[in-house]
Amino acid sequence: MKYDIVIIGGGPAGLSFACSMIDSNLKVLLIERSDANSISNPKDDGREIALTHLSLKILKRIGVWELISQKEISPLREAKVFDGNSPSLLNFTVDKSSIEALGYLVPNYLIRKALYERVCSSDSIEILTDTVVDDVIKGEHSSQVCLKGGKKIETKLVVAADSRFSDIRRKVGIPTIMKDFSKVMIVTKMNHELKHKNTALECFDYGQTIALLPMVGNSSSIILTVSTDKSNSILSMDEEKFNQMITDSFKGEFGEMKQEGVRHSYPLIATHAETFISDRFALIGDASVGMHPVTAHGFNLGLRGQDILAKLVNEALNHGQDIGSKNLLKLYERKHINLTRLMFFGTNGIVALFTNDAPMVKKVRKLVLQFAEKFPPIKYLISNHLTEAKNNKFLPF
Ligand SMILES: Cc1cc2nc3c(=O)[nH]c(=O)nc-3n(C[C@H](O)[C@H](O)[C@H](O)COP(=O)(O)OP(=O)(O)OC[C@H]3O[C@@H](n4cnc5c(N)ncnc54)[C@H](O)[C@@H]3O)c2cc1C
Repeated sequence: MKYDIVIIGGGPAGLSFACSMIDSNLKVLLIERSDANSISNPKDDGREIALTHLSLKILKRIGVWELISQKEISPLREAKVFDGNSPSLLNFTVDKSSIEALGYLVPNYLIRKALYERVCSSDSIEILTDTVVDDVIKGEHSSQVCLKGGKKIETKLVVAADSRFSDIRRKVGIPTIMKDFSKVMIVTKMNHELKHKNTALECFDYGQTIALLPMVGNSSSIILTVSTDKSNSILSMDEEKFNQMITDSFKGEFGEMKQEGVRHSYPLIATHAETFISDRFALIGDASVGMHPVTAHGFNLGLRGQDILAKLVNEALNHGQDIGSKNLLKLYERKHINLTRLMFFGTNGIVALFTNDAPMVKKVRKLVLQFAEKFPPIKYLISNHLTEAKNNKFLPF
């Protein structure tokens, strides 16, 4: 079997890249380990994805945005950061003259469903589900994708989007930096009596972090970050006690809060591949960089990365050039890695500063927040960086 491109992994990044290839006239195959039902009808996984303006633009361009029910999208108009018991120290609001919202919150499973629907609406992308890629044999003129069971598929370009714990990345020989925070994120949907006013809250409390992301109606996604040893007791806590704990954590600001969905947990491990490419091989999505979710940039970066690669592939096609050439892949890596390195190490630095409760560190973070709040150019930079609302002249990408 021969294909122009083989994509490994049908998560949000792999599916987005497949969508970007729909009009290319290339023979594209996407291989996914899970069964057809779980990718066509993904279950709610508790993740609310904060999409930036740039992500919105990309999703519109690849024909996915209109497939997401607008009733499920919650605009984010304000974001507040608290430190301990102090009043809000850093505040971001929409500049009414320029943008309608800081970002848009959309349930992850709806994004995945829409991406899958878009891929299926086209005849040019083939999907192989229930299939595990076991290895990739790289070659100068073509590579081979080896499936569990022994079958081999020849292709000009392999694009691996097989998660932050990518097996294929390791098998291809790409070293990866891993940062295990020894923390767990517990996410759940909660109903509350009072309105959230489309404001996100991030409270760096002592020993744990709690965040609220405003969803549609009087519902919010609650994200607790706790050390691994405490996570089991919170996950198994009876609902009444859990509701009371969360209501109290927000000091009754939202009235009584009640859990609506189930509690999901995610270990906090961030990863960054040392290189994103090899011979006729590229990493995209979390397989290239698996961000700490605190700045809500994992999928946003994944979308940008696949967009960079897709544009280079389409350009090569228009000029009759090789879509898996070394030059093309180097250009992809250069463009994407500049952006991800800055975000990855910057985010890990922020996390280190905000989750360390040593007295000196607490003082430093208060000063940092106060400085950022009172110095408009810094606030403008952070805000632009997080929302990707404008092409930022100050940043190197
Ligand atoms: C709690 C939480 C909140 C988040 N919030 C945000 C947010 O607000 N904004 C944001 O931008 N991002 C956010 N993220 C990050 C975002 O969810 C991820 O970046 C995104 O899901 C990564 O997509 P992916 O396709 O790269 O990887 P994955 O979703 O991990 O998909 C990988 C796919 O590859 C398949 N696969 C793996 N190995 C193989 C194999 N050998 N053969 C075949 N198939 C294989 C898997 O089955 C899977 O379907 C959040 C993450 C978490 C945990």
